[in-house]
Parts: sequence; structure tokens; C-alpha cells
Amino acid sequence: MSVIAYVGLGSNLKDPAAQLARAVMELACLPQTTLLAQSPFYASRPVGPQDQPDFVNGAVELRTSLKAHHLLDHLQAIEHAHGRERLRHWGPRTLDLDLLVFGTETIDDERLTVPHAELANRDFALQPLLDLNPELELPDGRRVIQLRTQCPDNQLRKLPPMAGTD
Ligand code: ATP
Ligand code: CA
Ligand code: CA
Repeated sequence: MSVIAYVGLGSNLKDPAAQLARAVMELACLPQTTLLAQSPFYASRPVGPQDQPDFVNGAVELRTSLKAHHLLDHLQAIEHAHGRERLRHWGPRTLDLDLLVFGTETIDDERLTVPHAELANRDFALQPLLDLNPELELPDGRRVIQLRTQCPDNQLRKLPPMAGTD
């Protein structure tokens, strides 16, 4: 049994767009997983502490036979390989991979909340999801396109496609 999963990517250190492009390739190489599509990348103002660089964000659509927690293990291993250190909450980071949506599953345990707890408040996560699937609905029936119109504005700016990533 496989599901369609959406993973959000973010970075605001050490050439963020290149961090994201490399992470997309690494996600494409995960076991039991196929990369179906990649969103454009967006620059956005940080949430939380403002004394840090702007973020670059994007998302990917995966088909995977991994279980959600196993996929999270892989996401965290990729973050680690990018030199991610957990310094302060919502602080700068080389790579952040969040599991935004995992099929129609709703998960809420000590390691994993899916759909991502802050998804509805984040244009930099909702917009890439919309780019990937304009029809996408959360397990509770809320439509991503509707959430996008209601969420706070982080001054998203679509970045030009990176050479060699299309
Ligand atoms: P936010 O969750 O608000 O985006 P963050 O990405 O900065 O904040 P992290 O430090 O990357 O937070 O992650 C903290 C913990 O969140 C992780 O150790 C992980 O167990 C947990 N977590 C819960 N739900 C998810 C999810 N959907 N995707 C990724 N991590 C999650
Ligand atoms: Ca995050
Ligand atoms: Ca995270």
C-alpha cells in the first residue's frame, strides 16, 4: 500500500535554494518512494524571531510505501546530513523538512502531528502544496485553496527556477 505524501522544505542558511535543490534529489532517492513533483521555491520572511535571514521554502509530492514515522526518520537523517543543528526554536537552519500531509492519515503522537500543526497558518507551506495539487484537501475535508486565502501573509516571493533543476 502506498500513499501520496507532501513534504515541506525550508532553509535560511548556507545557500538556501541549493540546500533545497539537494534535498529534493535526496528525497527522490529514498527507499520505497518516488518523487512525483516538486513545487517552485519561494522566499519568505521568517516566522518567530525576525533577526535572521529570509527563508526559502518549497514542497514535494511523493508516492511512498514507507510508514509515516519511518518517513520522518528519513527526513531527520537528511536534515542531519545537511548539518542541521537545533539551536533555538524557529531559529535559522540549513534545512527543515516537515511532513505536511500523509495521504488521508491523521496522526497525533509525541513525535508526529499530521497534517502539520501549523499548516493552516503558513502561506509558505500552503502555496507550494497548491502548486503541486490545486484540489488538495486535508483529512478533515478542509481545502488547501480555502486555507490559503485565510492565512497570514509572509510576503511570499516566487523565485526563478534554478538552472538544472527542471
Ligand atoms: P514547526 O514544527 O513549527 O515547523 P520546526 O520545524 O522548527 O517547527 P523542529 O525542531 O524541526 O521544529 O521539529 C521538532 C519536532 O517536531 C521533531 O523532532 C518532530 O518529532 C516533531 N514533529 C511533529 N510533527 C511533525 C511533522 N509533521 N513533520 C516534522 N516533524 C514533526
Ligand atoms: Ca518547520
Ligand atoms: Ca521541522
